[in-house]
Amino acid sequence: MQKAVKDYIRTIADFPHEGIMFRDVTTLFADARGFRMAVDQLLHPFAGERIDKVVGLEARGFILGGAIAHQLSVGFVPVRKKGKLPGRTISQDYQLEYGEAIMEVHDDALEAGERVLIVDDLLATGGTCEAGIRLVERLGGEVIGCAFVIDLPDLGGRARLDALGMRVHALCA
Ligand code: IMP
Repeated sequence: MQKAVKDYIRTIADFPHEGIMFRDVTTLFADARGFRMAVDQLLHPFAGERIDKVVGLEARGFILGGAIAHQLSVGFVPVRKKGKLPGRTISQDYQLEYGEAIMEVHDDALEAGERVLIVDDLLATGGTCEAGIRLVERLGGEVIGCAFVIDLPDLGGRARLDALGMRVHALCA
């Protein structure tokens, strides 16, 4: 039987901390068939819809988002951790399990009214994606959907994005 996207992903125990089961998508990205399948499947529900920009969340969202933007022939916008973008930015803070983090986007990265697809490898608590959504909306963009390779629903991200009225698409759990 042909492998599914999920079959290309490995889980590494105790990374980056003891007790964490880290979903490693580098093995998916490294396989030509797996990577293409992931990109195609991430786009599948949005076929025929107008998408003006793809926003990728640091860091693995850049790899997927870049490939998706190329496939759609649209621009790509990175949402990065604080201090990484060279131009003028707007910032959005969000809660981590312990403490707080800040994501940023260039303040001229989107035109008002642009329809945006947000992409990342994995949805856990949804904090990172919610920060991305808020940044896009503050720039006047409209998030038409959020696409992930992996959704870990027990961590609450799906419910959190559902509560924001977001369309969430994930390839596997
Ligand atoms: P959230 O903000 O709690 O939803 O966490 C999602 C962010 O953390 C995404 O940018 C993921 O890339 C990253 N992340 C969390 N856990 C994992 C994992 O097991 N594998 C890969 N990325 C992860």
